[in-house]
Parts: sequence; C-alpha cells; structure tokens
Amino acid sequence: MSKIARLSESVINQIAAGEVVEHPASVIKELIENSLDAGASSLRVEVRGGGHLFILVEDDGCGMGQEDALLSLERHATSKIRSTEDLFALSSMGFRGEALAAISAVSHFELKTSEGTVGTWIRSKGGVVEEITPLARNRGTSIEIRSLFFNVPARKKFQKSSRASLAQISRVVETMSLAHPFVAFSLYSEGEKIFDVRPQTQKERIDAVVGRLPLEAKGEGLVGFFGEPQEAKSHRREQLLFVNQRPIFSPFIAKAVQMGYGTRLGEHSYPSFVLFLEVDPQEVDVNVHPQKREIRFAKESLLFDKVLHCVEGMFVSKAPVFSASPISFAMPTSFLLEESPPALSPQEESPPLPLAILERPLLVKGRYFFLEKEGLYLIDLVALRSRLFFDALSQPKIETQPLLWPLEYEMDDPEGVERLEKMGFECRLIGKKKIAVDAVPSLLDVSEVPRFLEVWKEGKDLRMITSSFCGRLDRRYSPEEALYLWRCLQNCADRLYDPLGKKIWIRIEADDLAKWMMRG
Ligand code: ADP
Ligand code: MG
Repeated sequence: MSKIARLSESVINQIAAGEVVEHPASVIKELIENSLDAGASSLRVEVRGGGHLFILVEDDGCGMGQEDALLSLERHATSKIRSTEDLFALSSMGFRGEALAAISAVSHFELKTSEGTVGTWIRSKGGVVEEITPLARNRGTSIEIRSLFFNVPARKKFQKSSRASLAQISRVVETMSLAHPFVAFSLYSEGEKIFDVRPQTQKERIDAVVGRLPLEAKGEGLVGFFGEPQEAKSHRREQLLFVNQRPIFSPFIAKAVQMGYGTRLGEHSYPSFVLFLEVDPQEVDVNVHPQKREIRFAKESLLFDKVLHCVEGMFVSKAPVFSASPISFAMPTSFLLEESPPALSPQEESPPLPLAILERPLLVKGRYFFLEKEGLYLIDLVALRSRLFFDALSQPKIETQPLLWPLEYEMDDPEGVERLEKMGFECRLIGKKKIAVDAVPSLLDVSEVPRFLEVWKEGKDLRMITSSFCGRLDRRYSPEEALYLWRCLQNCADRLYDPLGKKIWIRIEADDLAKWMMRG
C-alpha cells in the first residue's frame, strides 16, 4: 500500500487557515473576537515590544470551566458551531476553533479563566501544556502570550518593526471597538495607556475613534456615518465597513459609497465613513478567508444599490450626482460600419458619454452591455475595464486601497517589488520567495490580485498587461458594476479605445439596424 495520501480539500484549507497567526495584530484580533463572543463588557489589551514580546487580552466575559479551558487549546475545538449548516446562521465572530490552538502552538501561552467560581490556570509552551492549576479569579478570561513565534524562526524574522506592529494593533483595537460601542476597550503599550473608550453610544464611539462624521444614512439593514465631501482624505484609512459587526474589506462597497458622493469629490479623495451593514447570515459566506477579512455576498448587486442609494440620499437636496460633462461635443457619426475608427488627434477630446440608462440595462454574458439613449450603445466591458485600468496605472500618483491585512504571494523576482510599487502596489519581500502586499491599486479587486500578478509576471508592457489581465479575468460584471465602469469612462481622455486600440463601445443607429435588415 502506498504511504502517501492526498490531503482532502478540507484538510488543505485547515492548514491554510494556520495563517490566523501571521503577526501580533492578527493574534490580538482573534483574542478580541473571542472576548466579544464571550459577552465581555470590558476588554483590556496590553502589549510590549509591539506585541512581539508580550500580549495580554483580558475580559470579563463568561469564562470557561477547567474541561473547556483545556479543550479550547485543541485544534477544531469550538463552542460556536456544530455543523457546517451553522456557518450560515452564525452570530459569533469565531467559528473555526483554531485560533487558540494556533496561537498557543507558537508561543509561551498562559490562560487564566473562571466562570465565577473556582478558576483555571493553564500554562503551555509551543502547544504543550506544562501546568494546570486552580486559581482564584473573577468571572472572565485573560490570555497572556510571550515570545510569539519563538519556535517559528522564519515567521519571526519577517515581522514588522515594533512601531509598525503597534500601529497595526492600534488599528485593530480601534476598528473592533467601533462595532461594539457598549463595550469598554483599553490598550496599553509599554505600560502606557494609548487608547481608552468607555461604553457609549455608536455616535459617541465614532466621534471618539474616527472623529466627526456629520452625515448619516439609514436604510434597511444599513447605518452609516459619513464625512463631508470637502473633508475627504487622500487615503482610504478612514473607510470602515462592518458586515454583521465584522470588519470587512470590500472595495466593491467602497466604490458604491464613492459613487454616491459622485462629483462632489475631487480626484483622489476618499470620504471618511463608518458603515454598518446587517445582512442575513444565510446570504453571506464568512468562510472564504483564513482571517475572515473577506466575505462573499449572495446578493452583491442589491447591496451595491442599497449603499449607493442611501449615500446619494444624503445629498438629495443638492445637485444631481452624475451629470454629463457640461461642455458638449458633437457625437461622432456612427462608425459601426466604418473600416477604421476615426483617430482622435491629441487636441480633439473624446465625446461625452450618455449616462442615462434603460430601466433594465441589458448585459450579455456579463461582458457586453447595452445602453440606450437616442440610439443603442453596445459596450465591451473588457475593453472598458482595460482602458480604466491602464489609465489608472499610468497616473503619476496611483490610487491605492490599503488592505486591513497583508496578502502573501509566492514571488521569486527580487526586482519585482520595485516594479509592482510603480504600479500602485505597496509590498515588501518576505524571505526569498514571498511578498506581502499591503495595498493594491484601487481598481483591482482583492480577489483579482493573484490573476493580475500571474499576467504581470509574463513581463509585458503596461498596455499588454492591463488588456490581457482584463481579458483573462473571465469575469461576469453585474449591471451595477457595468454602469459604474461606464460612468468612470467619462473621466478618461480616450473614451473610445482600449489601450490596444480595440473599440470600447459602438453606437448603433436605427439606420444601421435598417441596413442590416435590408442586407439579410
Ligand atoms: P473559535 O472562536 O473559532 O471557537 P478559538 O480557538 O478562538 O475558536 O476558541 C476556542 C473556544 O474557546 C471557543 O469556542 C470558546 O468556547 C472558548 N474561548 C476562547 N476564548 C474565550 C474567552 N475569552 N472567554 C470564554 N471562552 C473562550
Ligand atoms: Mg475565536
């Protein structure tokens, strides 16, 4: 019999999920989630050396009995789900039962916990339990971690500096605190208090953590607090999205907000917001990312619309959001049947685009998009996206979207980091064969990054890269996305051709239709 067996998909995923402990901030995120799941009303985090030397997370939650305390350190031991069906009715933050196992496996770990009566103290090193003793303690749990990654030198070597790590930790604590205003949070570094919030209302918590966000939007399952357009920032760090109280990264939703502000925003400016969405747990899949930082929505386009509407609604009394360019150019005559497209001389600008749409925009295979306004426009979304992407990446200053957590990719080209940075990526080499990506160009969806890097590795020029990438994506766009892309095209200097000279759209006149029919 063969000695080698293929790991099942689920085992592979479980191994991948070992990424839950990437750095001190991800450890703290997991521990805070556990405390919140345990119903804590007060949470204290302490770190030393940016969490590399010491981490404490202490709560006054439900605590654990001795048996549970021991079980909690085992992989796939959880009190939160029993079956995969439970995943779709999930109200807790945790569910995989692997955080404590993973964290304790790579540290000197102490757990002190009590349900109110006699408590338990467990000490372990590298996942091996060394001591279990009873302990007098109030209800709640404290977890202390020393020498994180002491037995994983490779991991230890590529950690950020203490300062950078502390910044990341602060962001995690602050972000988590936004979704739980009734819980007190404090953060101490080197014994000094650096963040402290008491139980307060949602609005007060946002004021305390993010600053003033005077505009409010409410809708079914949506509560949002937004900054004035003129207060918009040049970065997206103040764009915070929570889905069912989980901090989530979604460029898609961020785009809906951006679109809701419309022309009120200047170039490269991003409104601050804290947006809470409540989505039926049946309609989100939270189990798509090891650190739970991305989720999948079943009704993505409805959600996009809802967010867009609510944000637009905040400005109803003001000017319409999208209007065609005020300077009006004559539309070129139909060039559908022409042999070669009319070349645009540099002085000649592309025509403004019609933005009005059919009530039901017509999408063919998620790629071709029909739009009607005094004639029929047929738009190729692949060419359109290539144009937008090429233009975005050709800017001297490329709009980027920071990731809440870095993504890691295999890469063995030492000069690659620099080349990627020129294209709006923020990344760093970790080891010889890996890079960590901290930010990506805004027009790129996180899920598309691996495909982009694959095309990019082939080493072609930017025109080829953007076009082949968009072509190979094989993506079906939703009507909202299609419309969003179409509206973006309005800002491009060349609105007719993609970087390789393919037509982005053609206009079909009634006359053309008549000609076609005659020919038949
Ligand atoms: P998960 O949160 O995915 O269930 P964890 O490894 O994070 O997995 O935790 C394992 C279990 O330990 C949890 O299901 C919970 O029952 C218990 N636990 C962890 N942290 C706490 C805490 N701070 N207070 C009470 N129980 C906890
Ligand atoms: Mg957990």
